Amino acid sequence: MSTAVAATDRDTPGDAAPPPPVPEPDARAHARRETAALREIKTPVAGAIRIACVLAAVGAACALVPFAGLAALGELLLAPGPLDTGRVVLVAWLVVAGLGARGLLIGIALTITHLADQKLQGLLRARMVRRLGRVPLGWFSTTSSGLVRKAAQDDVHDLHQLIAHHQVELTAATVLPVAGIGYLAWLDWRLALLSLATLPIYAMAYAWMMRGFTDKMHQMNAAFARVSAAVVEFVSGIAVVKTFGQGRRAHESYRRAAGEYGQFYGDWVRPMLRLEALSTMAVGAPVVGLVATGGAVWFAAEGWVTPVEALTGILVSLVVPTTITVLGFGASNRRTAAAAALRIHELLETPELPVSENPQVPDGHRVEFDAVCFSYDGETDVLRDVTLACEPGTVTAFVGPSGSGKSTLATLLPRFHDVTAGAVRIGGVDVRDVDPAVLYRHVGFVLQDVQLVHGSVADNVRLGRPDATDAEVRAACEAAGVHARITELPRGYDSVVGADAQLSGGEAQRVSIARALLADTPVLVLDEATAFADPESEDRIQEALSRLAAGRTVLVVAHRLSTIVGADRIVVLDRGRVAETGTHDELLALDGAYARQWEAHR
Ligand code: ADP
Repeated sequence: MSTAVAATDRDTPGDAAPPPPVPEPDARAHARRETAALREIKTPVAGAIRIACVLAAVGAACALVPFAGLAALGELLLAPGPLDTGRVVLVAWLVVAGLGARGLLIGIALTITHLADQKLQGLLRARMVRRLGRVPLGWFSTTSSGLVRKAAQDDVHDLHQLIAHHQVELTAATVLPVAGIGYLAWLDWRLALLSLATLPIYAMAYAWMMRGFTDKMHQMNAAFARVSAAVVEFVSGIAVVKTFGQGRRAHESYRRAAGEYGQFYGDWVRPMLRLEALSTMAVGAPVVGLVATGGAVWFAAEGWVTPVEALTGILVSLVVPTTITVLGFGASNRRTAAAAALRIHELLETPELPVSENPQVPDGHRVEFDAVCFSYDGETDVLRDVTLACEPGTVTAFVGPSGSGKSTLATLLPRFHDVTAGAVRIGGVDVRDVDPAVLYRHVGFVLQDVQLVHGSVADNVRLGRPDATDAEVRAACEAAGVHARITELPRGYDSVVGADAQLSGGEAQRVSIARALLADTPVLVLDEATAFADPESEDRIQEALSRLAAGRTVLVVAHRLSTIVGADRIVVLDRGRVAETGTHDELLALDGAYARQWEAHR
C-alpha cells in the first residue's frame, strides 16, 4: 500500500506503526478544527514559508533547463556538417547553470524554512511557558504533565517536517512536472498527453482502493484502541496478575484484541495488494519510460514531432510520477502536523487563573472560608457551604473520611482552584483579589505529592527563597530534621536529586518542609505531610512541623489522627460539609463522628 495509502495516511496498511485511535465521533469536524489550529499556529512564519515556496518554485523551474538543454545538445550533435563547438559548450554551461540554480534556490528555500521552524518552535515553547505559568495550580496533574511533555516535545517536533520540509518540497515537486507538461504542450500537445498516459490507471486503482476508506479507518482505529486498552489493562494489573498467577487469563484478552486487529487488517489489505502493485507499477520509471518511448517513437515516425522533441518528451515524462510520491508523504506529514497543532492549540487555550485588575494586599494572615462551595465538574458539589476561620498563630486540622473534601478545601487557599460560590479570604482580602505573586509570598504549602526538581538539594531548598545564604539553607534543613541525612550524601548539599541524592519519601518530604521554612510564609498549608513517612521520620516531620507552625496560620490535612491531637482546632468534614469543630478533648466529649474515628484509630 505504499504509494496509494501514503497519499492519505502514513499509518495505514503497509506501514509498521499502527495509527493512533481517532476518538472523535465527528471526524470531519475534528479535521476542520485541526486545519484551523494548524493555520493559526503557522501564522508567525507564514510569510517566510511563502518566500521559500516562491524560491523553490523558481528553483524547480530552473530544473527544466537541463531537459531543454539536453534536447538542444541532441539537435546540435545530430545536425549535419561540422560540430558547432562554441554552441555545444554554451548549452552545456546552461545545463550546469540550470542544475546549479535549482540546487542553490531550493537550498536557500530550505534554509529559510528551517530557520522559520526554529523560530516557531521557540515561539510555541515560550507561549506554552507563559500560558502554563498562569493556569491554576490545580490543573497540573499526572495527566496534564503528560500532555505538556507531549506538546512541548513531540508535537512541536511533529510540526518540523511540515514547516521545514513539506511545503518547499511539495512546491518543487509540483512545479517541475507542471512546468514540464507545459513545456511539452508548447512543443506539441500530443507529447503533453503522452506524459500523463499512465496516470489514469493509477487514479482508477487508487479510487478503488480508497472505497469506504473512512469507515475502514474508524474500524481499524477501534480495533487498535481495543489492543491499547488490553495492553494498559495488562500492564497496570501486572503485579496482581503475577501475585495471583492469572498470567494466562490476563494475557488472553490482549491476544484476542491483537488477533482481531490482525484479522481485520489482513482482510482489508490482502485483496488490495495485487492492485496496489499494479498501480505502483503504472507510475514506476520502467513502465512510464516504456510507454513514453513507444509513444514518442510513434509520434516521430508519424512526423508529428522531431526526434529531439520526442527525446524531450521521454525525459519529462519520467519526472511526472515523482509528484505522486511527494504528494502522498506530504498528506501524511500534514495530517500528523495538524493533529499535533490541535493538541498544542488546546494546550495554549487552557483557561488561565483570573487575575484581579485592582489587586489588594492582605492585611495580616487570618484565613476565612466564607460559605464556600466548590465543584470540579460544575455538577457535583465537593464542598458545601463551608464557613470557618483560622486565626494567626494557630494550627487548624481538617479530618474526615477519604473523599470528604479536606484536600480540596485546603488547596483553595493557594488557589489551586477558585470557589464556585462564597469566598476564601486571607488578611480580609478575597484570594482572587490578591496578585498571585503576593499570594504565594503569603501562602506556602507542603503537599502529599512532594515535588523535588532535578537539581542539587541546596537548589531545591532555595526554591523557597532564591537569595538565601548557605547558612540559611542549612538552618532550614536542620529545623526540618534532614540536615544530618544530607551531609551523608556523596556531595552533601550539592548532591543532585534523583542522581547521587536518592531520598526516601520521608526525606524528600523533610526537604520540602525545609523549603517551606526558608520561604517563611505567614500562612502554611500542609496536606498529608506525613503520608509517606515511616514512624521514625513521622516523628521528625512532626517536630519540623511544630517549628514551622510557630507564629503562623497553619492548615493541616490529616489522615492519622494521632498527628493532630495537639491542633488548636480540628474541623471534621463529612461529604463536603463541616460536621463538627473543636479541640481534640471537646470533640471526644461530643461523642460524635470524631469520637468514633478516634476510637477506630486507637
Ligand atoms: P479528601 O482530601 O478528603 O480525601 P478530596 O478533597 O481529595 O478529599 O476529594 C473530594 C472529592 O473531590 C472526592 O470525591 C474526589 O474524588 C474529588 N476530586 C478530588 N480531586 C479531583 C479532581 N482533580 N477532579 C475531579 N474530582 C476530584
